Amino acid sequence: MQYDVMVIGSGPGGYSAAIRAGQFGLKTVLVEKDPKLGGTCLHVGCIPTKALLQTAEVYDYIKHPEEQGLYCENPRLDMPKALDRKNKIVNKHASGVSMLMRKNKVDVMAGFATLKGGGKVEVRGNDGSTKTVEAKNIIIATGSEARMLPGLAPDDTILTNIEILNMQHVPQTLAIIGAGAVGVEFASMFQRFGSKCTVLEMLPRLVPVEDEEVSKELERVFKKQGIRCETGARVEQVERTGNGVRLTVTLATGKTEIIEAEKLLVAVGRRPNTDAIGLENTKVETERGFIKVNQYQQTAEPGVYAIGDVVAGTPQLAHVATMEGMIAVAHIAGKPVRPINKNRIPGATYTEPGIGSVGMTEAQAKAKGYKVKVGKFPFLANSKASILGHHEGFVKIVSDETYGEILGVHIIGPHGYELIAEAVAAMEAEATVETMINTIHAHPTLYEAVGEAFNAVYGQAINA
Ligand code: NAD
Repeated sequence: MQYDVMVIGSGPGGYSAAIRAGQFGLKTVLVEKDPKLGGTCLHVGCIPTKALLQTAEVYDYIKHPEEQGLYCENPRLDMPKALDRKNKIVNKHASGVSMLMRKNKVDVMAGFATLKGGGKVEVRGNDGSTKTVEAKNIIIATGSEARMLPGLAPDDTILTNIEILNMQHVPQTLAIIGAGAVGVEFASMFQRFGSKCTVLEMLPRLVPVEDEEVSKELERVFKKQGIRCETGARVEQVERTGNGVRLTVTLATGKTEIIEAEKLLVAVGRRPNTDAIGLENTKVETERGFIKVNQYQQTAEPGVYAIGDVVAGTPQLAHVATMEGMIAVAHIAGKPVRPINKNRIPGATYTEPGIGSVGMTEAQAKAKGYKVKVGKFPFLANSKASILGHHEGFVKIVSDETYGEILGVHIIGPHGYELIAEAVAAMEAEATVETMINTIHAHPTLYEAVGEAFNAVYGQAINA
């Protein structure tokens, strides 16, 4: 039998593409090498990380409840229990994905897929048996895995996102190399769990893809919370000691320092999973290992598409993978397709304070020659932030003075990763600063700060 669509990999990109293909009535098969569906995001990425970050948030609250007249005697963290809860959430959603496959009449095959060319794919089962499956269209959604520093391999001392999510106890000291989303989220988590965290980033600022002022604010608050942040730092050497690691680091000042830690998290980016998937049997082109695609996610091999982390030039985000899946399937089905507008991809980083952003940073907008007008509003002046007891951060609007076009919105503050939704919708609808000023924001809410920041573009914020 020949399938209309074969999806390889069941992460958010792959499973969503399979569902959409099923909804379109296409005969679809989803191939997954791991025992459960869901991929990195569900098993060792977004979902378990955010589940534990929720535990960190609650723990942080109950450590200092007196302000609210509450008394919790001896709060303590039972890590194995917290991990249990995290695992339950993961498993529940993995079953949910399987259920959705049945609901949408998607066949699921367990095994490792290798493209053989001409629409043929060999699937090797865990028992070693192989089967050749044919599909008119193939969507490669094999994802990525953590990049390691040369000469290092992960174990129970040197960790990636996988090992750190199953640590049975909280280390006294945690060193983190890399201050992208992975590095700062785990720093924020383990600082609240009680570890002394040190973040080492080679670039001059934390979260380097964010607006510069966001990076600065995160560093300020992290330092206040007790997280050591060393930017412009070069890790010269990593040695294992009897009870942890010893890092030789050249700091931004030029001084070399030895930093010892019980555990080390390496969070320096991710490499695409393209090994052994048979790209050499096709015309698929790659760039530093990532698969090259056009705006409809088509590779250079007819009938072969790629989506998600494995794709070149795409931010490695679950929601981007999902949208790319929708585009690939719509294209296959001959439905209307609108390629992704890369300026409207939200970023969401679950630190405390949280970060949400969309569009151009101030520096990017200026570099593009826009007549930039910025509006900023601090959470210090937002009543809901006071109620929550989280005052750090601000909302920053980057707009073009000429027509009031919204070029970018950058939020750091309580639930910043949720608050960004309004800005993404506004940009998608091509709303102007004016439209947003006339949009009523409920009171008292955190997102009033977004409305105020739009007013601040014209120097007309009410509460600051
Ligand atoms: P990243 O590429 O976002 O960040 C890696 C950081 O490590 C960079 O800032 C880089 O400058 C730094 N770095 C690289 N080599 C270094 C070295 N030798 N010494 C010191 N610093 C070094 O990668 P990540 O944080 O590992 O995340 C991987 C991907 O997953 C990213 O695309 C990220 O956006 C995504 N992700 C997103 C979320 C989220 O959206 N909440 C969460 C986790 C991961």
